[in-house]
Amino acid sequence: MDKRDYYEILGVSRQAGEEEVKKAYRKLALKYHPDRNPGDKEAEEQFKEAAEAYEVLRDSQKRRIYDAYGHEGLRGAGFSGVGGFEDIFSSFGDIFQDFFSFGFGGGGGARPRTAARPGDDLLFDMSLTFEEAIFGTEKEIQIDTMVECEQCDGSGAEPGTLESTCPNCQGRGQVVQSQGFFRISTTCSRCQGSGRVLNSPCKGCQGQGRVRKRKKVQVKVPAGVDSGTRLRLRSEGESGFRRGQSGDLYVRLNVQPHEFFDRDGDNLYGKISVSVVQATLGDEIEVPTLDSRKTLRVEAGTQPGTVVRFPGEGAPRLRGYGRGDLYIEIDVKIPKKVSSKQEQLLREFADLEKEKGDQKVRKWPWNRRKERGQESGSDASRQAHS
Ligand SMILES: [Zn+2]
Ligand SMILES: [Zn+2]
Repeated sequence: MDKRDYYEILGVSRQAGEEEVKKAYRKLALKYHPDRNPGDKEAEEQFKEAAEAYEVLRDSQKRRIYDAYGHEGLRGAGFSGVGGFEDIFSSFGDIFQDFFSFGFGGGGGARPRTAARPGDDLLFDMSLTFEEAIFGTEKEIQIDTMVECEQCDGSGAEPGTLESTCPNCQGRGQVVQSQGFFRISTTCSRCQGSGRVLNSPCKGCQGQGRVRKRKKVQVKVPAGVDSGTRLRLRSEGESGFRRGQSGDLYVRLNVQPHEFFDRDGDNLYGKISVSVVQATLGDEIEVPTLDSRKTLRVEAGTQPGTVVRFPGEGAPRLRGYGRGDLYIEIDVKIPKKVSSKQEQLLREFADLEKEKGDQKVRKWPWNRRKERGQESGSDASRQAHS
């Protein structure tokens, strides 16, 4: 791979002075700092590249060789670039001091260690009405959690004070104990392995960089959610320890039942009752839907359990377009009591009824869903209606 020109990397001219080179490097180093770009390989490369350019251009001897003979000349002089982060931090970690008050310990592992630790994820249970779940809503919730300390901007250090090398482990983050033949290395308890200690911990947060507080969070609930849906709000969880990554906030939804409708996915199910006379002679009745009212035509000779479909009157689809359907099942009410006049008319009706009908036993409809019409098919008892 071709190496890029050091001046180009830092974005300075070939005549740039010491201060200018340092300033340019500091800008890049902060931008591509691994703590700000966790897990980002590209930023890591840029960070190392900038460090190498700075290593050469700040050193008048190396810079002279580079100006005269380029990369090739430096290799000839035995310069092999900078190594891992460890090198970078031990060589010019001081450049970050004014910006980061948490530590870059020298020595130890491959990654730079800091005292920062991520915050926990949080779970919040939120109750929604049936309509809120279907049409979406925005709600403000309040949670008791750890938030960044305003006094120290999350650093944990009293403003104006810096960190220093941990005296217990001399900045290594590890302490070595000899036990007989064995040497056991353990994480330093004084600095929790960061190699740095606060000279003066922030009084507002006792050096944690975060304080317990009640905070308000706006939760946008998309249309079409259902009970059990979990919304994830990135970085709205607990703040990290000394500028560690914030956790996420999960909002678990619980949807209250509706007065008339059951819901299954995008579809809604309801039931109405009509009289024997309405079912026999036919009628038009008004039924409520979720957001309006519709006319339902009861055909003459409607059987109990007949399902009428109202396309597009269900819940919006959570991922996708359009809405599900509303299914209304028609129940036929048999009067428990009739007046003597009604009974007389019914007996006349019975006399006129020629066919008694053959009383065959049929199978019980075991699958309610199928009967309610969720599976589209050729069921004759179902009618589309809009
Ligand atoms: Zn220590
Ligand atoms: Zn503080």
